[in-house]
Amino acid sequence: MTMRLIILGPPGAGKGTQAARIAEHFGIPPISTGDIFRANIKNETPLGLEVKSILAAGGYVSDDITNAIVESRLAEADCEPGFLLDGYPRTLGQVDALDEMLAKGDRPLERVLELVVPDDAVVARLLKRAEIEGRADDTEEVIRERMAIYHRETRPLSEAYAERGLLVAVDGEGSMDEVFDRIVRALS
Ligand code: ADP
Repeated sequence: MTMRLIILGPPGAGKGTQAARIAEHFGIPPISTGDIFRANIKNETPLGLEVKSILAAGGYVSDDITNAIVESRLAEADCEPGFLLDGYPRTLGQVDALDEMLAKGDRPLERVLELVVPDDAVVARLLKRAEIEGRADDTEEVIRERMAIYHRETRPLSEAYAERGLLVAVDGEGSMDEVFDRIVRALS
């Protein structure tokens, strides 16, 4: 059995936390483009130097760069049983690019999971995370910018996947365990 999944949701919806647990549950790798970019920034790779200021300002890295990173990651052997994409795709252009990548390998997406959390709740969570983790893009101004970009660029993705009958929406409010249980139930 394969499990090819995407997890969608606003910044601060708890995608990363849930992605790790879902991936473990199904025995597939969680692939977070945000984590890949942050690791490159930390290691000062050419890619990291290129995207550092974009991430700090809350903008999106270009589709060309992002698509290329995901394509090479999906070619790795651990993606054979499936994968969980977290933070990708984020634009309709990335949706098309992903479709093409997956069509080449004849490995269609199985589900798109959307974590639904109201704006007020995610802003509060991000501000709290800022105190704990000190991420460069968790200041109030940058959070507002990320939310605006999310609504403009990424919200339309849930509609696109709903039209294809792939979308599963799950209430993302509540404890980590509650949300995880809902997700597992929704996916089985
Ligand atoms: P969050 O979901 O909390 O915004 P992520 O770790 O998913 O955090 O992403 C952090 C940043 O990395 C984004 O604000 C953006 O700058 C960049 N990024 C991540 N994924 C993508 C993507 N698919 N396309 C463009 N930029 C991306």
